[in-house]
Formats: sequence, structure tokens, C-alpha cells
Amino acid sequence: MNPCPLCKSKKTRYLYNIEKFKIYKCVDCKSSSTSPPPSDQEIEDYYNGFYLKQNTTKKLEIFRKKYFRAWYEQFDLPKKSRMLDIGGGGGFYCWSFEYFLFGEAHYVDVDPQSCEFARNELRLDNVHNCFAQELPIDQKYDLIVCRHVIEHLVNPEDLINTAIDLLAPDGTLVLVTPNASSIEVFGYPGRLNRRVNAIVKATDFSRLRVLWSFLSGSIANSIYPIRHLHAISKKSVELMLIERNSALNDITYSSLTAHLCHAPIISKDHLFGYSPFINEYKISGSRMFGSIKTILVNLTLGKLCGGIHLIFLIKKNETAN
Ligand SMILES: [Zn+2]
Repeated sequence: MNPCPLCKSKKTRYLYNIEKFKIYKCVDCKSSSTSPPPSDQEIEDYYNGFYLKQNTTKKLEIFRKKYFRAWYEQFDLPKKSRMLDIGGGGGFYCWSFEYFLFGEAHYVDVDPQSCEFARNELRLDNVHNCFAQELPIDQKYDLIVCRHVIEHLVNPEDLINTAIDLLAPDGTLVLVTPNASSIEVFGYPGRLNRRVNAIVKATDFSRLRVLWSFLSGSIANSIYPIRHLHAISKKSVELMLIERNSALNDITYSSLTAHLCHAPIISKDHLFGYSPFINEYKISGSRMFGSIKTILVNLTLGKLCGGIHLIFLIKKNETAN
């Protein structure tokens, strides 16, 4: 394959195919990537009309809950602060930020339909239909949220650096992506089967071989081209941030993982993750059974290689420009 797109190492090994795409794992940074990546045209065709149907009323009910206020409060934002949601999807994070009067929320997304939704349904004022790289660089933000975006991009590093460039001094970037090494998905057979079936169909491997490879370090959690082009490891993001700091020395950072489901109470960690409103009891239909199952999954599979979501909290130095 080409060098690892995340750390540029040439030491990679073939894992399996998903559809016609080959997946390789980088020996050095432990991320996996689709190589070669889909063409620009394939990516454009895939996202054309890509739109998540939203139940607006139900979602707004969730995003006006007090734990969202608590989530924003933990960043110690200045009064009348500025927030940016990169790849904002429906725009609910921005909506919640303004609902709790934290300040001005900006939304950027390349999908015109999502922008239309954010503008017309959620009545957001600051909707930018472009790449984050096209935003004016002199406009800085105290909080930038970039959830489940970088794994979709051919070059994640470029967006991470853009997001950091857009941070105001003392500002925080919340970067969320699936955790490449997590095996928590074994607790959710529906999700697991979808990927195993796709690999078995595209590669001459038995089911057992795929499951075994998953358990022995080749899970590349959540990689699924054309949508998810990479399974990003903690190490690969750290290497990017170390490289940035060796030149600019303008950030500090920490990382954590979050589980797919938290039961029965939604924790702050969970809010960093994928869907603050996914609870296993909702998936299984039974609150009691689902909650017990979730606790068991989180304490076993979720502990071994971390939760299903990887979260980086990147803080711009107070003295940075
Ligand atoms: Zn690498």
C-alpha cells in the first residue's frame, strides 16, 4: 500500500477487503486505512444526498437537557464565547450551545442538505456551507467540536491542524473518532455482524478467521469504506500532535475513551461519544435487561482495549496566537 496516511510509515500489513477496498494496518501507529482510498468522484457520489433523517422535536428535547449545559460548562468558557461545530450534521450541538446562552455558535458542513436543515429547521444564524479550511482564519473560537468527521477524510491531519489553527488562546478542541483498537463491538452482535459479513463476502476468509483476527489486534474498529476510511488509533493522533508541537509548541492535550452505551445514567464521558441518547435498553427494548447488559459489556469488553469512541481534548496555549 501507499505509506500510512496518518504517520507516513511504510511498515504496513494487509488485513482484509471490504467490498473492493483493501484495508491495511500500520505497524508503527496501529491505525488502519483504506488503500488506495476511494477516488474523489466515488466519495462525492457516496455523499450526494447523504442525509440523516432527523426527528427534530425528539432531538431538541434531548439537547435541552441539563447535562448538555453541564457538558459545556466543564470547558470554563469565557462569557459570550464562540463555538464552532465542524461537520455539524443536524446542528444540534450548536443549537444547544445557544439555547443555554453560552454565546455564538457557528456551524460548518460541506453537505448542503445538512446546512439547509440547520438553517431552516433549527434556525441557526451562522451556518457555513464549505470546508473548515475555507473559514476565515482570523475568526477564532473558544470551543471547537469535531465529532465523527476525521475518519471520513482522506487526510485527517489537515483538518486537525485547521481546527487547532482556528482555536482562540486557551480554547479547546473536542475531537471524537472511533477507537481503532476497541473490541467493545463484540457486545453488540448486530454491529459486529455487519462488518464480519462484509469482510467474509469480499475476502476469502472464514467467519471464524475474521472473528479471531478481530480479537487478536486486527479489528480496525469501525473502518468501513467509503464512509469510514480509517480506524484511527490514539497513537496516530498523538504523533500528529507531537509533530505540531515540535514546530509550534502551541497546545496541550489529553485523551480518553467512551463506551457506546451508558446505563442507567448518562455520564459526561458518554456525552463526548457518539450519540448521547443511545442507551442499550432502548436497543434491546427492555430497560432492566439492557442496563445489566450494558454494565457487563462496559466492565469487560469496554475495559480491555477501551471504549468504542476515542476522544482527544486539545487545548491551545494561553499565549498562542
Ligand atoms: Zn501509521
